[in-house]
Amino acid sequence: MLMQRKVVAKKALKKKRSVRKMPRKPAVPSTAVTGYEDALLKGVIGSHSKHAVNALALEFSSMLSSLTPSMREMQHKHGFRIGRMLYQLYEQNRKYIWYEESISDLVSFLEAAGLGKVAYNVFPDTVSIRLYNRNAPRLGIAIHEFEAGLISGFVSTGRHQLTEIHEARCSRGGYEQCEFTRSPKQSNEDASEEYAISRLIDNAVMALKDGKHDDQIPLEYYMLASSTLFRNEYMHALRNIASYIGNEFATAMRLTANRNSLEGAERLTKLLNLGSLTINSLKPLSIELEFEGLSSRREHVELSLAFLDGLLSRLLKGKSNIESIGARSSGGYRVRLIEKKQVR
Ligand SMILES: [Zn+2]
Repeated sequence: MLMQRKVVAKKALKKKRSVRKMPRKPAVPSTAVTGYEDALLKGVIGSHSKHAVNALALEFSSMLSSLTPSMREMQHKHGFRIGRMLYQLYEQNRKYIWYEESISDLVSFLEAAGLGKVAYNVFPDTVSIRLYNRNAPRLGIAIHEFEAGLISGFVSTGRHQLTEIHEARCSRGGYEQCEFTRSPKQSNEDASEEYAISRLIDNAVMALKDGKHDDQIPLEYYMLASSTLFRNEYMHALRNIASYIGNEFATAMRLTANRNSLEGAERLTKLLNLGSLTINSLKPLSIELEFEGLSSRREHVELSLAFLDGLLSRLLKGKSNIESIGARSSGGYRVRLIEKKQVR
């Protein structure tokens, strides 16, 4: 059964499908508006973000965005665009004479984004940036394509010349630190996607048990780095994968209908920033999933529902008449899952 799901997820990634209908429109418009990304960047720079998410949520979304070469390429391009915007944003208040002067601002941004301690060297034609990240789970694959694109876009704009920077080494792929340089990716563990997923699950389950993984990052950065996941062409495949991962989580956590166990599921969705889950009861079914502000973006809600579908699939087995009702709440979006009334 599980093998079948894996195959389904992999096949689905290669195909383009139409997007399933969601109940009504969430609060935040999902179209990519420059003003929206501008506001997200300012939220990270100003460090006045009111909302923070657990760093594991970013690991999860970065890993999902690294599953295929085409997604990694898209992540890089998206990061490049955001890096260019970031440079232009800084330049409004500072007048850089040499591009080298801008790099300390780039480094401050990466630190404000919660990526860890940053060390760097600047050369006339390129930069070398290293991230020392605490508590980094080892996944066997490199996951910082968005950051590589962001650095490339920032440096290219400053130099007025295309400057490609790659993540030559990634701590998630088995190195001591993440290293961004001009040289292309060096061989790392390069494990399978299944291995990366299972390692991430182990780490999150451990975090739920010991409660130690409490590093926070700004929600604004999470939303910027997760944009590739929200693209229409990947939505169908990603929903399958999110559902598969949800199911794997249920196995790893030995999820049952027991109250303690259900509370574990509630804490997990919050940890991964996949909505605030409240399981009122399974019989009769009464479940709520709530999203605040920026997180109530339609595609994010869809991905979270797919994950929940997998997470609870065995507990809700045999229930084919589940109805999801979505509604805007104050500054957010709320989905209720209930059983449809039998029509006589
Ligand atoms: Zn890395």
